[in-house]
Amino acid sequence: MDRRELFLGGLAAGASLAAFGAPFRAAASAPPFTLGVASGSPSPDGFVIWTRIAPDPAAPDGMGGVTTPAQVAWEVAEDEAMRRIVRRGSAMTTPAEAHALHVEIGGLKPDRPYWYRFTAMGEMSAIGRARTAPARGARNSRLKLAMASCAHWETGWFSAYRHMAAEDHDLTLFLGDYIYEYGNPATRTNLVRRVPMVAECRTLVEYRNRYALYRTDPDLQALHAAAPCLATWDDHEVQNDYSADFSQIGTILVEEFRARRLAAYRAFYEHMPLRPSVLANAPEMRIYGRFDYGALARITVLDGRQYRSIQPCTVGGSRRGHVAPNTCADLTDPGRSMLGMDQERWLYDGFKTGRARWNVIAQDLLVAPLAQKTTDGQPGTFTEGWSGYDANRGRMLNAIATSRLNNPVFFGGDMHAYFTADLRRNGFTGPTIATEFIGTSVTSDNAADSLASTLPDNPHIKFFDNRHHGYMTAELTPSRMETAFRVVSDRSDPRATVSTLKRYGVENGRPGAVEI
Ligand code: FE
Ligand code: CA
Repeated sequence: MDRRELFLGGLAAGASLAAFGAPFRAAASAPPFTLGVASGSPSPDGFVIWTRIAPDPAAPDGMGGVTTPAQVAWEVAEDEAMRRIVRRGSAMTTPAEAHALHVEIGGLKPDRPYWYRFTAMGEMSAIGRARTAPARGARNSRLKLAMASCAHWETGWFSAYRHMAAEDHDLTLFLGDYIYEYGNPATRTNLVRRVPMVAECRTLVEYRNRYALYRTDPDLQALHAAAPCLATWDDHEVQNDYSADFSQIGTILVEEFRARRLAAYRAFYEHMPLRPSVLANAPEMRIYGRFDYGALARITVLDGRQYRSIQPCTVGGSRRGHVAPNTCADLTDPGRSMLGMDQERWLYDGFKTGRARWNVIAQDLLVAPLAQKTTDGQPGTFTEGWSGYDANRGRMLNAIATSRLNNPVFFGGDMHAYFTADLRRNGFTGPTIATEFIGTSVTSDNAADSLASTLPDNPHIKFFDNRHHGYMTAELTPSRMETAFRVVSDRSDPRATVSTLKRYGVENGRPGAVEI
């Protein structure tokens, strides 16, 4: 049996078969680990292990069917059979965290796999595999990443996640839209999976149960069990096209939206293997950070939503993204920021001090500019992504150039299409100073075909494809990075196969992707 079958076998025996078919609500006697296990935030001496006790993951009170706090034991082992246990302990769950657990494991050896599991209510969870990062400055020679974005439960099966789990990678990067907050109107006819959950998420209970729904998926559970992850969010973890404290709907008051966002961020924390320190400055949730992999790579995770300036060039009462004419002054206003001034400063400080061979920047949106036409034919650009925050983009690329950052490569999502782009010093012109890859959606509806007609105006975009669903992989060595666009055969087929659409190399010291 290969490792994937082991995972799926473990899951079938332990947890989530109930979620595979139509009924989402588990039986009353369901085991506690219906949401699987996860690990994340790897450091050279440890990582976070996660689970959430939820015998009834759709319980209307958002408590997963737990009525009193549960005692949960955990074990970390050096071997897959869990014989050589190196850490163990136990903890009580709390209703305040919806009976989720985030256990920080330390004191481990660098750059090696570990296995972990939980025990509660007389049941054992599936076994997950984590991995520590290499020691500081270690001369490590290989790192394999798998990256995904935009997984809408109702528009497809998570076959992309199943194939990612089988890639035998070191680290998963979730680049945003891990859930969709949308309601499920009966008028939508192209849905592949329908759940009896019709309301758009607005409250903590609704966001909790939405994450729980997603986490009952066996393919997503297999992915989380296969490797540790890092995650950033995009808009749909809260609401389509929101910015910081501002809803896309201009009439919703900041105070009201702030409460909704707080609930959504809380549910994100409860379901991701994040360190509890991300809550230290509540109501801020600090998910941006740097993760070092020896001398080979630094992974910088950015937050493109929490701190951004209000949407540029708004029209009427709507703050939704749209193509605004280039004459709109907001677009270039230096006082506006995508990352917020504190995160910008932190990012540029990191560029100055980081000496890793590869600098992977994991974030949610297309960085490359994209010339488009407004509805009345004027030259314009889309306001929702980096093009709506041109001054911040310019400062960021300038900081990369002036600090002589080694091999910067941006990975993003959001577009529901693949893009390969050269990031040029002056946007459309000037020397290429960084490489960009955008992954298509796991399942969400693809980008409009009209985007393809903009390509002649955007020669720095080397590749565009909006016909597929899938994910990206990247393998880093000291001399080159190889990235693959992996596509699944059919989002409506739970047994979809995978193939490679495109493969690119980036050579050390030479920004820009080369097709291989
Ligand atoms: Fe999306
Ligand atoms: Ca998005």
